[in-house]
Amino acid sequence: MTDCLFCKIVSRDVPAEIVREGERVVAFRDINPQAPTHVLVIPKDHHPTVAELADADAGLLGEVLGEAHRVAEDEGVADGGYRVVFNTGAQAGQTVFHVHAHILGGRGLNWPPG
Ligand code: IMP
Repeated sequence: MTDCLFCKIVSRDVPAEIVREGERVVAFRDINPQAPTHVLVIPKDHHPTVAELADADAGLLGEVLGEAHRVAEDEGVADGGYRVVFNTGAQAGQTVFHVHAHILGGRGLNWPPG
């Protein structure tokens, strides 16, 4: 999608600190980190929300989740514990409508989230 920020990160029209890249997924550091590790994992294809991705391509959603765990391992937070968050819809805080998994770790994380 031409006006999608995360599509522009995939195409390198917008710079990002990419930490992992596969054939169908990309992981890059969040520009406004909320934890010592805060990485976003996205599919290269444009799907607005995790719900739409699950319906359209469950295999690709599985790749996003697998990549999330590999990011956690690379970042050294897999053993201590980390959180994978898909904000879904505006009321849940989703601001970029290209599905992304937040990978958060490196500090204690409260429950329930705000
Ligand atoms: P959401 O609020 O769940 O949609 O998450 C969007 C995330 O994208 C936020 O945590 C933002 O800080 C992050 N973000 C926005 N623009 C950029 C960017 O250009 N590079 C990396 N992360 C971004």
